[in-house]
Amino acid sequence: MAQLKKVLVVGGGTAGWLAACYLAKAVNAVDPRSVQVHLVESPDIGLLGVGEATFPSIRGTLAAIGLDERRFLAGATATYKQGIHYRHWVRPPGAPGATHFFHPFNAPSQRPGGPELLPYWLLGAAPEGMAFADAVSMQSTLVNHSRAPRRAKDPDYQGPVNHAFHFDAACFARVLAEHGQETLGVIRHVATVERTELDEQGAIARVVTKEEGDLTADLYVDCTGLRGMLIGNVMQSPFRSRADVLFADRAVAMQVPYEAPDTPIPSYTISTAQEAGWIWDIGLQKRRGVGYVYSSRHSTDDRAEAVFRRYLGKAGEGAKAMHIKFETGYRPEHWRKNCVAVGLAGGFVEPLESTGIALIELATYLITHLLPTDTDDMEGAAQHFNAMMVARYDRIIDFIKMHYCLSQRRDSAFWTDNCDPASIPLTLQEKLAKWRQRPPHRLDFISDLEMFMTSSWQYVLYGMEFKTDLEPMRSAYPHMEAARQEFAMIQQAASRALDDLPGHRELVEQLCREH
Ligand code: FAD
Repeated sequence: MAQLKKVLVVGGGTAGWLAACYLAKAVNAVDPRSVQVHLVESPDIGLLGVGEATFPSIRGTLAAIGLDERRFLAGATATYKQGIHYRHWVRPPGAPGATHFFHPFNAPSQRPGGPELLPYWLLGAAPEGMAFADAVSMQSTLVNHSRAPRRAKDPDYQGPVNHAFHFDAACFARVLAEHGQETLGVIRHVATVERTELDEQGAIARVVTKEEGDLTADLYVDCTGLRGMLIGNVMQSPFRSRADVLFADRAVAMQVPYEAPDTPIPSYTISTAQEAGWIWDIGLQKRRGVGYVYSSRHSTDDRAEAVFRRYLGKAGEGAKAMHIKFETGYRPEHWRKNCVAVGLAGGFVEPLESTGIALIELATYLITHLLPTDTDDMEGAAQHFNAMMVARYDRIIDFIKMHYCLSQRRDSAFWTDNCDPASIPLTLQEKLAKWRQRPPHRLDFISDLEMFMTSSWQYVLYGMEFKTDLEPMRSAYPHMEAARQEFAMIQQAASRALDDLPGHRELVEQLCREH
């Protein structure tokens, strides 16, 4: 038996530092210093620098690694995120009917013993014309009034309203690097890996760096970003493209200033649909992060930059745009022999629902729980890990595709092509067919394999005006009056919460001052 004693993380972006911190914390919690965690990052190769919106799981991850919330907010110039506001996704601007919807992070209200509200919303018990998310959750009221999801007195990473964060990716990596080294015992090497040598079994024997010579470990975690230096170039783990389903493969991004230092900061990501994709707009403490994700089959780079600059208006004048290429897909074998990929090295799904960092969190969680103490048992852990990652990717891809194929936009080839049944996975087609007869239920999902729970599917489906015909089942829902009262109570609770919760900018500034 060969005991696992050392892990080497290669790459110091969000993936590298999150993986190193999480692994170091987890292994030291069981048996202090039993496994050493090293990280090597290149002084010459920069990190991607986008990836600023997160998923609510980030709160559990940051709490698990013991990072103080005030230190995190100040260091990563972070703000709170309570959901995603989808503009012009339902229909194009100017079309009659709703064009927008909100995907909040709070699950629909469910009072113990009270009726499940979705069927009653479908049967018309909510106030007329009220959107599903507005009827079942108070979160849209809160964000429309620029409220934070927590109070200063709440314990770190907690609060009455579900949330995630927006942050500056480079600053976040720096905060994690400090925390990882100072508190968790991660050993950092600043060096560029030039080549990798394999042993006779085809496992990695060592990586050879320019500045520090050979570095060896029992497990190598490839966090080298889109280049996938170890898992792709050395271990030859193939990439499964899903570009036939999700067409976006380019982004043009920019950091722009606020109009004024006290401009309110939205506590949600704004996603605005465009002719060949969509634009993200994220409010950080001192600037916005904005980017246009588009399909190169449906737009040239020049046209995309022109569309993007038109969106930005004066804010983008004189600023240089960064162009990025990517492809939606993943490596079915994220883990081969003694090499496991985390982050962009393993795969990527366009950032519509901020799944990149959430997949990093998932991968590091799985590695820490599956990591064998005996290095000879690596194969079993790899198989388990790969199956879990593939299941998550495929479900995420279905979920993202649903946003596109439910849209009523037909104003450009990008949107019509997205409705071509040949581009819609059968797994998604089957779900949608079922949900025409009845709404999504938690039994439709296996929670360990899902990133998005039932409520997220419901918010997007009904935000996009999907029709579930419950009329034939009306008699199965006899509690219309009780449901009406529940809908009214949610609105009352929202008014009370407005008094209880501080303003978003105000809270962020206070917590940063207290750091
Ligand atoms: P990188 O940031 O590229 O880091 C790679 C690291 O590897 C660097 O430190 C580099 O120095 C090091 N390295 C590379 N080669 C070597 C070498 N030879 N030797 C030593 N070190 C080396 N995710 C979200 O969750 N939310 C979002 O809103 C979001 N938006 C995105 C928008 C776009 C357009 C794209 C493309 C991605 C987005 N993502 C988002 C994904 C997110 O950016 C990534 O998941 C995240 O940044 C992790 O990147 P990484 O650490 O894998 O790679």
